[in-house]
Amino acid sequence: MEHYLDNAATTQVSQAAAEAALAAMREGFGNPSSGYALGRQAKDALNSARADVSAALGCAPDELFFTSCGTEGDNWAIHAAAAYGKRQGKHIVTSLIEHAAVLEPVKALEREGYEVTYLKPDKSGLIDSKAVEAALRPDTVLVSLMLVNNELGTLLPVRKAADAIRRIGCPALLHTDAVQGFLKVPFTPKELGADLVTISGHKIHAPKGVGALYIRKGLKLSPLLRGGGQENGLRSGTEATAQIAAFAAACREGKARLAGDIACMTALRAYAVKRLREAVPEAVVLTEGGAPHILPISLPNYKSEVLVRFLSDRGVYVSSGSACHRGKPSHVYAALGLPKQLLDGVLRVSFCGGSTEDDVNALCAALAEAKQALFPTLS
Ligand code: PLP
Repeated sequence: MEHYLDNAATTQVSQAAAEAALAAMREGFGNPSSGYALGRQAKDALNSARADVSAALGCAPDELFFTSCGTEGDNWAIHAAAAYGKRQGKHIVTSLIEHAAVLEPVKALEREGYEVTYLKPDKSGLIDSKAVEAALRPDTVLVSLMLVNNELGTLLPVRKAADAIRRIGCPALLHTDAVQGFLKVPFTPKELGADLVTISGHKIHAPKGVGALYIRKGLKLSPLLRGGGQENGLRSGTEATAQIAAFAAACREGKARLAGDIACMTALRAYAVKRLREAVPEAVVLTEGGAPHILPISLPNYKSEVLVRFLSDRGVYVSSGSACHRGKPSHVYAALGLPKQLLDGVLRVSFCGGSTEDDVNALCAALAEAKQALFPTLS
C-alpha cells in the first residue's frame, strides 16, 4: 500500500484529465491553426479549454496564455515585466523564499545591472506587508511575491503589496507565482490586484508540461516566443492540445471540488498535527494555518534525506523540502533562521483532496519506527 503525501511536488493525473488528453491525441488531434474541419475542431477545443482554465482562475479567456510549466510562466513574467519598465527604472522587489523559478531569473537581471531587494520572512515564514511597502521606490519596476510558499504553505501579502503599489503611485508591475495557490486557496487575479499570475498544471492533477500565465487585460508585454503567432502572438509554437485539454479537465474538477477539498485538507492537516504529537512527540510543526495542503515539520537531530528513504521503504512518500533542490539545504528553511538540528530534520508533508487519515496514520507509524531504528546512528 502506497501513501503519497508529496502533492506539493506533483499530483497524480486525474482520470478525467488523462481521458481528455487521450481524446485530444487520438481523436481531436488536428493542428488548431489548420483551416479544415479537424483543425477547426482542435481550435474549438482549445478555446473551450481556455474558457475552463480562465474560469477556474477567475479571469477573462483573453487574459490567459498557455505555457509549458510554472517555471516558464515565472521566467516570462519577470523578464517581460523588467523589459516593460525599463524606462522607469531597474529596481525589483521579491522575497528570499520564492521558488528558484523566480529567484533565478531575478538573479540573472541582477547580473545585468538591476538592483534587487529580497524581503526576509520572520521565523514562521511570514513576510510583513509593511516591509513590502518600505521597499518600494520610484524606480521599482517589478514586485514578485508568491501567493503560497511551496515549502511552508505560508501566504504572502500579495493583495497588500498591490494596495501599497497603487497608494504610493509606484510604477511596478505586480507578479505572483500562484503555482501552489491555484485551486488550493480561493483567489482571483483581480482580487489580488496582480498584473501577472503564474499557474501550473501538474500541481492540480493535470499532466506535467502545461501551465499558464495570466496577463492583465491592456498590459502589453513582449512575446516569450516569436514564430507562428499562437497565443495571441505572445507565445508562438503549436499548442500542446493534449496537455491543455487535460489541464482544462483538471480545472473543471478542481473548481467544482475547491470548497470540499479545502475543508478536507484543513481537517486532515489538523488530524496530522494531533497524531504526530501522539506518535512522535519530539516532531516540531514549523508552520500551520496557511494553505491547507502543506504541513512542514521537523524531527530534530534526524537527517531528512535518511528519513525520506526510510519512509519510502515503507511506502510513505514525503519530501525533504522542495524536490527542486535535492541534496542542498533549502534556501526557504534557511531563511527562517532555524537552528541546525531543526533544519536538518525538515520534512514537507503535502496533501491533496483525496488524501486520507489512513495516509497520515501510515506516516506517523513509519516516523515512530524511524525514531527507534535510526536514532542510534545519528549524533
Ligand atoms: N513555483 C512554485 C511555488 C512551485 O512550487 C513550483 C514547482 O514546484 C514552480 C514554481 C515550478 O513549476 P513547474 O514545475 O510547473 O515548472
